[in-house]
Amino acid sequence: MKQYFAPGRVNLIGEHLDYNGGLVLPAALTIGVTATFIPRNDNRIVLRSATHSFSKEVSLDDEIVFDAKNDWTNYPLGIIAQLLKENHSVPACEIVYESNLPEGSGLSSSAAVEVLTAYALLSQAESNVNLVWLANFCKQVENDFIGVKCGIMDQYAVALGKKDHALLLDCNKVRHEYIPFELGDYKLMVMNTMKPRSLIHSKYNERKSECEAALHIIQTTKSEIENLCEADMFWLDVLTDEVLRKRARHVISENLRVKEAAKVLEWNDLSTFGRLMNASHTSLKNDYEVTGIELDTLAETAQEQKGCLGARMTGAGFGGCAIAIVHQSAVEEFKNKVQEKYLLVTGLHCEIYETQIGDGVHQIN
Ligand code: ADP
Ligand code: MG
Repeated sequence: MKQYFAPGRVNLIGEHLDYNGGLVLPAALTIGVTATFIPRNDNRIVLRSATHSFSKEVSLDDEIVFDAKNDWTNYPLGIIAQLLKENHSVPACEIVYESNLPEGSGLSSSAAVEVLTAYALLSQAESNVNLVWLANFCKQVENDFIGVKCGIMDQYAVALGKKDHALLLDCNKVRHEYIPFELGDYKLMVMNTMKPRSLIHSKYNERKSECEAALHIIQTTKSEIENLCEADMFWLDVLTDEVLRKRARHVISENLRVKEAAKVLEWNDLSTFGRLMNASHTSLKNDYEVTGIELDTLAETAQEQKGCLGARMTGAGFGGCAIAIVHQSAVEEFKNKVQEKYLLVTGLHCEIYETQIGDGVHQIN
């Protein structure tokens, strides 16, 4: 019996830049999903999860296709189907998933399940699974089998995350670099709005088209750039539509913030990093308009607390989670104050998780 772990992830800074060819800075968390791998002597795979009552048994001889009735098991089934299609050896087994990562809250539990499943299955025959390949493979399964058109960031961070490091990922060139991120006496707090992300798909597509429209105008009037992230702040005046100008201003300024963040983290300047987080949130609120009362209340209340270096929403927005960097001596008071204010303003109870930056997918025994 072997056990494997895949973490959840947060994006520390660089929001809504993946589809604009920019830089993102995700990190793997110390909370995540664990899989217990139990070999079987037949040709069947059994999938169970401690957080779901539905379980599934399939034969490796059957054709595996997406079926909504298969509920959460579509994620591991998608991985199995694609591994078989590409002629990898897939061993008969039972896989039992356990998790302390909230599902559907923007911390990439889906990528954790995908990467974990592929890693556990491949590890039975291969001693060194290529993690960059693995991230791309799992992203393709989420795009094609599950039908979610996510970018590469989630699977990359879950597969390649490294303890006390952030992953600087260039979404245009698909290249990554590790940036030291030592929290020392600080904690990474993840604050869950506990709000269903209902607007997310329509607004996400709307922002994507707005960025495409802004890029097109800049391309025809200023420069043949390929991505909006390459645009210069001084070109914004060609965008006469105020909405497009605001969207582009967020994208360009956020990309500059990621560059600066990577620089200040080289000498572990967490205070400046915190200020960049605050500026990122303001830009996402005012220029990109993807926050909402829940994320604003969490991030802005967090920013006012003693011992907090900075806070911002993380992920696509309209719900999901916000993050904050808080001194360990102030953590308890921080939690109480933020939860109290959040309840008062929204009528909702928020969950707050105290985490660290951990390693990507790995075996744990
Ligand atoms: P996110 O990736 O932000 O957490 P998604 O909606 O993309 O949100 O993925 C959440 C889905 O992933 C869950 O609804 C469930 O189907 C699946 N999932 C995540 N964690 C587990 C788990 N521990 N066991 C079973 N299924 C899980
Ligand atoms: Mg997901």
